[in-house]
Amino acid sequence: MTQFQDLNLSEPLMRALNELRYTHPTPIQQQAIPALLEGKDLFGCAQTGTGKTAAFALPMLQLMSEARVKGKPGQPPALILAPTRELAQQILDSYRDYGKYLGLRSAVIFGGVSQRPQEELLRRGVDILVATPGRLLDLMNQGLINLDQVRYFVLDEADRMLDMGFIHDIRKVLAKLPVKKQTGFFSATVPAEVKKLSEELLYRPVRVSVSRENSTAQLVTQEVYKVAKEDKRNLLKQLLEDLDVDHALVFTRTKRGADRIAKDLVKSGIPADSIHGDKSQGAREKALNGFKNRKLRVLVATDIAARGIDVDGLSFVFNFDIPEVAETYVHRIGRTGRAGSEGRAISFCTEEDLTYLRSIEKLTNRQIPLRKTPVLGPTANQIPTFNTKLTQ
Ligand code: AMP
Repeated sequence: MTQFQDLNLSEPLMRALNELRYTHPTPIQQQAIPALLEGKDLFGCAQTGTGKTAAFALPMLQLMSEARVKGKPGQPPALILAPTRELAQQILDSYRDYGKYLGLRSAVIFGGVSQRPQEELLRRGVDILVATPGRLLDLMNQGLINLDQVRYFVLDEADRMLDMGFIHDIRKVLAKLPVKKQTGFFSATVPAEVKKLSEELLYRPVRVSVSRENSTAQLVTQEVYKVAKEDKRNLLKQLLEDLDVDHALVFTRTKRGADRIAKDLVKSGIPADSIHGDKSQGAREKALNGFKNRKLRVLVATDIAARGIDVDGLSFVFNFDIPEVAETYVHRIGRTGRAGSEGRAISFCTEEDLTYLRSIEKLTNRQIPLRKTPVLGPTANQIPTFNTKLTQ
């Protein structure tokens, strides 16, 4: 079994990894770290939870400290692009954890907050810059960031970037990057557009795929409950009790839905909050921190807000609403079953959702077992009988 010692990482990185109690590199780390240390470009097909952040951060930190790379004011030598503020913040935290003994300066920039403190950091000089595309472009247009010195570049969660409509912003950023650089490109799924973008960006990349393209996390048990729309909230509460769920992320399709469910749970005495794009950065952070430090038992989220949420020991993900886009299902259930721990993904399926469920099963190439819906309280409707047979 490969150990971190076998990967030729420097002593300061090893020390940080020991402190974090990482003993063995995950499969993507085993494959990506040597290739990136050799200076090659990389195409990584991997979802969150596989350890992909360390797979690109560790070699980048090592190369930068070996070459004594330093950023001049407003001119970062390393750039990591991520689709959401939560993910960008998480990537920064990882860089700081791993690079604790290296003395490199890192910063994150994203929208929705004042740009002043970000300007100040840039002015002082940053070696590693993590950014969401919108704010990055904004600051570039104001002349506060110049990408001429970028030698290390990572585009993370490319599929989600395109889903979120960032393609034009990304192209504008790419156009300003120097030709000579090392690039890491990561995506959980590889639709045609992602493939095209990667081909434009990468020079003879090493390809690493930690599981089959479009596959769901290996350690996640998946199950589906059929339920009438109006009974979903009762079913959720029932399952939280029946399955002894102490920590769960619940996905909804809409922001209003997320708020409604969180309120309903709180009313029933279950500590819960919601997180979505209409909430202020402060409110989102409060909810996320409350969930991380386990003051909240349930966090209800929309897909975009939940992107990249990384919570240790999260064992349950509920698809309160089945996503309409099958790839989203893969992203959602990737929140659990991370880095070797087991997880359970539970989906609620109404009759209208059957076609979505079918396309998820087709994409992931597996049938999701149907569980018997528990008998709900007196206010609940009968368990519906569907015309179309669900997989048993
Ligand atoms: P990521 O896929 O980068 O979002 O990482 C998922 C989680 O796995 C994060 O909480 C990391 O801190 C953790 N992790 C990454 N690599 C390892 C490792 N080799 N051993 C243990 N945990 C890890």
